[in-house]
Amino acid sequence: MLDLDQRDVKYLPGVGPARAALLKGELQISTLHDLLYYFPYKYIDRSRIFRIKEVDGTMPYIQLKGKILSFEQIGEGRRQRLVAHFTDGTGVADLVWFSGIKYTTDRYRPGVEYVIFGKPTIFGGRVNVAHPEIDLEANINFSEMGMQPYYNTTERMKKAGLNSAALRKLLRNLMDLIVEPLPETLPEWLREKERLIPLTDALKVIHNPKTPLELRLAQLRLKFDELFYVQLNLARFASDRQRRFKGFVFSRVGEKFNSFYREKLPFDLTGAQKRVIREIRNDMGSGRQMNRLLQGDVGSGKTMVALMTMLIAIDNGYQTCIMAPTEILSEQHYANISRYADGLGLRVELLTGSIKGKRRESILKGLSEGSVNILVSTHAVLEDQVEFSRLGFVVIDEQHRFGVAQRARLWNKSIMPPHVLVMTATPIPRTLAMTLYGDLDVSVIDELPPGRKPIQTEHYYDGNHTSVYAFLDRELKKGRQAYIVYPLIEESEKIDLKNLEEGYLTVCERFSGYGVSKVHGRMKPAEKDAEMQRFKRNETQIMVATTVIEVGVDVPNASIMVIENANRFGLSQLHQLRGRVGRGADQSFCLLVTPYQLSEDTRKRIEIMTVTCDGFEIAEADLKLRGPGDLEGTQQSGIAFELRLANLARDGALIERCRELARDIITADPELCSAENNLMAKVLRRLKKSPFDWSSIS
Ligand code: ADP
Ligand code: MG
Repeated sequence: MLDLDQRDVKYLPGVGPARAALLKGELQISTLHDLLYYFPYKYIDRSRIFRIKEVDGTMPYIQLKGKILSFEQIGEGRRQRLVAHFTDGTGVADLVWFSGIKYTTDRYRPGVEYVIFGKPTIFGGRVNVAHPEIDLEANINFSEMGMQPYYNTTERMKKAGLNSAALRKLLRNLMDLIVEPLPETLPEWLREKERLIPLTDALKVIHNPKTPLELRLAQLRLKFDELFYVQLNLARFASDRQRRFKGFVFSRVGEKFNSFYREKLPFDLTGAQKRVIREIRNDMGSGRQMNRLLQGDVGSGKTMVALMTMLIAIDNGYQTCIMAPTEILSEQHYANISRYADGLGLRVELLTGSIKGKRRESILKGLSEGSVNILVSTHAVLEDQVEFSRLGFVVIDEQHRFGVAQRARLWNKSIMPPHVLVMTATPIPRTLAMTLYGDLDVSVIDELPPGRKPIQTEHYYDGNHTSVYAFLDRELKKGRQAYIVYPLIEESEKIDLKNLEEGYLTVCERFSGYGVSKVHGRMKPAEKDAEMQRFKRNETQIMVATTVIEVGVDVPNASIMVIENANRFGLSQLHQLRGRVGRGADQSFCLLVTPYQLSEDTRKRIEIMTVTCDGFEIAEADLKLRGPGDLEGTQQSGIAFELRLANLARDGALIERCRELARDIITADPELCSAENNLMAKVLRRLKKSPFDWSSIS
């Protein structure tokens, strides 16, 4: 049988060593298999020939049939271009090249009948087509041009003549080699169940479809392959993990939890908080080690969930730890948790890098003896000297600030891996969570505490700072505090810092009666914290900052967030920033300031921000606008590369279906050793996907 995986693309007719090197260097195509899986990015109907006199500038593509009258070279040096005057008898169009001039004049001749194809523009009253595709009229079979596939190629490939049309020819040569079916990747029972066409048919059609319906079926089959095996892999990992690691069993809901619930709880839990606490409790009592992601929008009350579930662990005789990514956040948690837990007879300690000497020793001793019930900490907890007596449950706040390796170190702090709850305020769209984390359990707090007023969000142009400042004035006079945020992005750090400094000076002048703080990433952590604390204590009323304030800082009296150059932030970042306000009972505001000129995408981003405060809605919109490749998590996992056809934003239903099937299959046959599942085990091994186990994020 033809083993495409073993065959170097070099030996395909039409390739040879030079093109093979290009294919490998530019597109990472080295085998016939790689080439076969290099799918077209679009299809265009080329059965129609236009006449020059009917062409207008709004047509996406045109195809003309006619002759070149003459060539003309215009301009000098870098601005040089080649124009071919082309006619079909109804008018004259100009074909234009800005590079490859010699190649073009050598190759095409006046007087020969050609078919040209490209995107028209109208320039000086004349139809222009830049860098058209040109074929000899005699070589074209119009009846086969119904759905012409187009392949992405790079500049270097094009220069060497390896353009989309050339790739099309190579693929045709490859198809000629495939005389018998390729090895299937899905068992027949599954294909029948899901009504999927055979793999070989799908691959042939995707490169050369006759009808849109046929193409859809081929795409469906190939998308299914991609998504199904990602899900099968995840399901298998998850089931392995569950069998390998037993978890501490927290069977009791005991005294601390109950007395806290009855006597201390300062407000009624929201329905979502109750549900999530129940989910976590069930997990921790199941005998499996819990790995749960808790997603909840900013301000949704994740800390209370953390505290109450920690009480369950304590009631069962275990120690607990909550980690935050910065000192200021851990101090905040420490203050809140100590306050809540007051009178429960618990020992709550804070351990950060800046706690030293006697104090530190006493905490470490308390941890190893077991007298500390709740440790609030930062990365400091990961150090080897920190030893627990019976660590049973760990909460990690703001997940994405911790690296995978750091999380792994947590596991070694206990005889068995503790239960882990990872809390994040960056909502991950459901389809993405399913694909990235597979069987990881996900809890969602989809409800804000009652009485929260949605943050009123408005868009201002930067020419209109007077209004922005007037707005600020009004709120400051009511005794509120405000953030003014500037972007800080690596490449242009200098300019950004300058913007921040200038902004700071302007604000100091304009609001001379108020205290103004300034915080940015170049400051030492201690300075930064000190400045944040000043703002928190209301010694300063305005905080001018870069995105360092993005995560978790809680100053309920701050009710205005001004985001300068909001166009330079992604949606989820804008949402995070906005979440810094709206934490108290007062109406809060977010003012997004941008230049007047905005790209269409940016305008949409800003508009979404002004119409919704729902983090999940924003995350979905973000996924649609940016594509999954840019989202957090997707880059590191490589998932965006594995999915050539499937789209996390658009193929939600298919992802769900694949996940369901994968779970059922693994539940019934965890090792995939039955005869009917054997093929899938083989495919999985061959794919060797996911070098990393994404289902154990802690
Ligand atoms: P986040 O999910 O962003 O970490 P927090 O846990 O900091 O949110 O909670 C935000 C604020 O809401 C805190 O001041 C907290 O005391 C308050 N809060 C939490 N749950 C409730 C509730 N059920 N009812 C009223 N207020 C609540
Ligand atoms: Mg929080």
